[in-house]
Order: sequence, then structure tokens, then C-alpha cells
Amino acid sequence: MKMIDPIKNVLKRGAESAKYKYSLIISLIGLVHVCLVVLFSFLRVPPMVLINIGSVMIYITCLVAIRHDGDMRAVFYATYLEIIAQSFAATVCIGWRFGFPQYVIALVPFGYYMCHALMEDQRRYTIATILGLTAFGSFVSCRLLSMYFGPLYQLDVPEAVELGIYIFNTFCNFSFLFIVTAIFLVEMQTATVRLQEQNAILDTMASIDPLTGLYNRRSMHHFLNDAQNSGEDAPFCLVMCDIDDFKKINDTYGHDTGDLVLREIARIAREHVEKHGYACRWGGEEMLLILKGDVEQARRIAEDIRQEVNGFAFAAKGQTMHCSITIGVALHRGGYSIDHTITRADDNLYYGKRNGKNRVVSDLELNTI
Ligand code: GH3
Ligand code: MG
Ligand code: MG
Repeated sequence: MKMIDPIKNVLKRGAESAKYKYSLIISLIGLVHVCLVVLFSFLRVPPMVLINIGSVMIYITCLVAIRHDGDMRAVFYATYLEIIAQSFAATVCIGWRFGFPQYVIALVPFGYYMCHALMEDQRRYTIATILGLTAFGSFVSCRLLSMYFGPLYQLDVPEAVELGIYIFNTFCNFSFLFIVTAIFLVEMQTATVRLQEQNAILDTMASIDPLTGLYNRRSMHHFLNDAQNSGEDAPFCLVMCDIDDFKKINDTYGHDTGDLVLREIARIAREHVEKHGYACRWGGEEMLLILKGDVEQARRIAEDIRQEVNGFAFAAKGQTMHCSITIGVALHRGGYSIDHTITRADDNLYYGKRNGKNRVVSDLELNTI
């Protein structure tokens, strides 16, 4: 596994940087041509030595173009034509048996990949198909050419050398196919992960209230439905909270301070609720909590929130001030709707508002359980 880590890193880097990826592909193709210059020198086939030197020059030019943000389409077409021309030249010079024309096969996936990566409009797949058919036509033409025209150079090499050159060409061709496929897969994976991350961000944006960081009303409906569907073995309470005399806070200290108070109270509620359920911003300065468990436990948590809010010193325009919150708690009863329980929590809350505020009122106090 350790061995393939560097390869993975190269592919990942290729997926992140187009410049790096194209430079890598072009360098590898150029390197094959350097090998071919050496090979044809040994085989004493001057035209192929010259042609391959020309190819190396083309790829050096391509690398310079990539480095200077040149036209990648020109680089792509130059590569395409070079490989096709090379296949014809090799067939004319030394015949079919060394396996040079097989490079054009790899042009098919390469063409689709490059057209996909470099072109925007819908015609890109038509262009890729035309290029693929050109590759096919070139491959067949090389075969026919080798049948009707004998090679210019009748190489008298041992069978093992012929096989060696054939395997070298096949190896390079397969490597090229593997690399193009691997880059494509890694890019797809990277794109999928990026999409999932963006979806998660969008999900969060769609479900969280930006001011308080609490769930918004829309996402709370999911939790309410889940709680209702979880059956009688999983009792839960709905808890409605409303800040006392909030209008006064806004009027006295300004809307910004009002926002700050709202955020702090939301934070306090969230921290108390975290392990027991969910907290949402139900309306302007109203929060609705779902608390798993019986009414005694919900009452205790609500009381903790009330006390912490009441004891908290809020910073307001260079001074500190205190505020309070009134909370209504209602146990959800089987057979009743969620709306009914919310109304009961609301009734308990307004009972608390009418009776002095800064208090928790549950079914227990009102003996409605
Ligand atoms: P009560 O004790 O009876 O609840 O009195 P109250 O003044 O809090 O009355 P109410 O709950 O009806 O007041 C809601 C106020 O909350 C009115 C509105 O201006 C304010 N408010 C609603 N949303 C926001 C907000 O996002 N930021 C700020 N600063 N104020 C808000
Ligand atoms: Mg209110
Ligand atoms: Mg209020």
C-alpha cells in the first residue's frame, strides 16, 4: 500500500492542478519519444530518429506552452496529430509487427477526456467522437498500408528484440491508458467530495438560523416529526421560551444589543439542550425546544436555562444589564398532534407571563398532566 501512496499523491495533485496534470502527461509522452530516438538510432532507421527528435521538440514546445498558460487545445491537437503521424511513419519505415500503430488506440479515451476537460459546449463529445473515429481509421489504414507496401527498412533483428520492442510499445500504451483512466477517476472522486462538502454547507445554511445559530423552524419540523414517530417508549416534551420585555431591551439599548442578547440566550439554551434534544428559533425572540424524557427532566433543564439567563451579565453599550426568560413546558401525549402540544406549551408560557414572568411553567404546576 505504501508503494502506491506516491502515485496517489501525484494523481491527487493532478486532479487539483490542470497545469501539473497536462505537464505530467506531456512529459511522459515526450520521455517515450526520447527512448524511441535512442531505439531507432540503434536500429539504424534515420527517418524515425529525425521524426522522433521532431516529436521531442513538439512536446518541449507543448510544455513551454502549458507553463505559460498557452492554448491547451492547441497542445491537445498537436499531441493527437503527432501520435497519428508517428504511427504512419513507423509503419511506412519498419512495418506493422513492432506494434507502433497501437498508440492510436489510447487516443480514443484520451480524446474524450481532453474534449471533456477543455471544451465547454455540447459539441465537445461530437468532436471527441470524430477524433476517435479518426484514430480508428488511422489504425486500420496503417494495417492496410503494411499489407500493400513493404516497409522502407527491412529490419533484420532477432525475434527477442522484435518482441521486446513490441512489449515496450504495449507497455507504454497501457501505461498511458491507465494514467488517463486514473486521472479521470481521481478527478471524479475529488469533484464528488467537493460536491458533498458544498451540499453539507448548503444543508447547514438551509437548516440553521444565521443570527442565533439555532435550528430554524423548517428543520425543526423534521425533528418534531421524528420525535412523534419514535413511539410511546420515547417520551418527549416541547418547551416554548420567550424573552421577557424584549421590546424594552431593543428600545433602551438598540436593536444591535437586542441581537446580542438573543444570540447569548440562544447559546445558553443550545448548551443545555445539546445532549437532550434540539433547540430552534421558532419566531422573533421565541425558541422551541424538544427535550427527550419526562416532564420532570424537561422542567429541570428549562429551570437551569432560566437561571443561567437570569444570572448572565449582558454587555450593553459599555454597561452590563440583566434580563429574564419565561418558559412553558408540555409533555407530548400519545394520540395528540404536535400542534396540540405546542399550543399547550404556549399556554403554559403565557400563564407564566401573566404571573410575573421569569419562571418555568409546566403541566406539573398547572396539574394538567
Ligand atoms: P413579553 O415579556 O411579554 O414577551 O414582552 P416582549 O417585549 O418580549 O414582547 P414580545 O415577545 O411580543 O416582543 C417581541 C419583540 O422582539 C418585538 C421585536 O421587535 C423583537 N424582535 C423580534 N425578532 C428580533 C430580532 O431578530 N432582533 C431584535 N433585536 N429584536 C427582535
Ligand atoms: Mg415574543
Ligand atoms: Mg418576549
